[in-house]
Amino acid sequence: MVFTEYIKQRLKHKYFLTRYRNVVKIRYIGLAFTPLLSYFNGPFSLTRGGSLNGNCKWTGTGWTVEVLHSRAGVSTTILISVGSGERLLLDCGDGTLRDLLNREVDPKRIAGVLISHGHFDHVGGLHPVLGFIRMVGRNSDFFVVAPEGSFEDRLIIKAFTEAYGGTIPFNINRREVREGAELELAGIKIIPFGVVHHGSTEMEGIGPRLPSLGYKLFYNDERVIYTGDCGLDSGLEKHIQGVNLAIIEATLDEPGGELEAKVHLSIESARRIAEPAETAFIIHRPGGAAPKKVTR
Ligand SMILES: [Zn+2]
Ligand SMILES: [Zn+2]
Repeated sequence: MVFTEYIKQRLKHKYFLTRYRNVVKIRYIGLAFTPLLSYFNGPFSLTRGGSLNGNCKWTGTGWTVEVLHSRAGVSTTILISVGSGERLLLDCGDGTLRDLLNREVDPKRIAGVLISHGHFDHVGGLHPVLGFIRMVGRNSDFFVVAPEGSFEDRLIIKAFTEAYGGTIPFNINRREVREGAELELAGIKIIPFGVVHHGSTEMEGIGPRLPSLGYKLFYNDERVIYTGDCGLDSGLEKHIQGVNLAIIEATLDEPGGELEAKVHLSIESARRIAEPAETAFIIHRPGGAAPKKVTR
């Protein structure tokens, strides 16, 4: 190697190291300021308690609720675990099976999934979960609860049952429900409520309203609410009073307009709506933004 080239490489290396050290410093400064940011956050203390892959976990009396993953337009999956060992999923986005196995959760113990709506980031992980529990020989019913009129999960189940015919050792018990239709799964009382959520793509802009539900869960005198994807027109405020945990979507960085009314909440509105809740997880953030935990 010519000497000048060697010097150039050394300098490059040094430059890289300096940059790396600065990144590390900035990170530390960021960490140091986090409690201050929390302090100035008004009535809430905002903890950056989440990463994209979890750490948004709430523990109630005899049950836990954990956001396994949530990222707008990619995947949302929430795991409910009760003391008896039974589990329930709220939505079932891509990566659900991987996230369950990473946490050593036995997919055979999952009673079923409550689907908020048929968008791919909420149902994309259903086929692998069904495939896995077929492979390991589950023989009890797997429940799929979906909003009346939704079809995406039905088509996934149809493809799965057509592909594997008579070799599925369990029954897929799919139910379409509407607002107020009370049911019970894994010992949890469930009451769905209607929310306003329209499709939205680059090509069509704001599309038609979709069959979409949020879910209220009751267990041991505690209440958890999950909004699914929803616009401001959903009037969520009436559902939040007195809840122990609210899991609220906040896809938009800026409030206002038709997009917020009909498609997704902004972070500002989500935080305002979350105010009466004892604890709130603000999820379904875009890009690399992590879910946020908000506690009173
Ligand atoms: Zn979504
Ligand atoms: Zn959606």
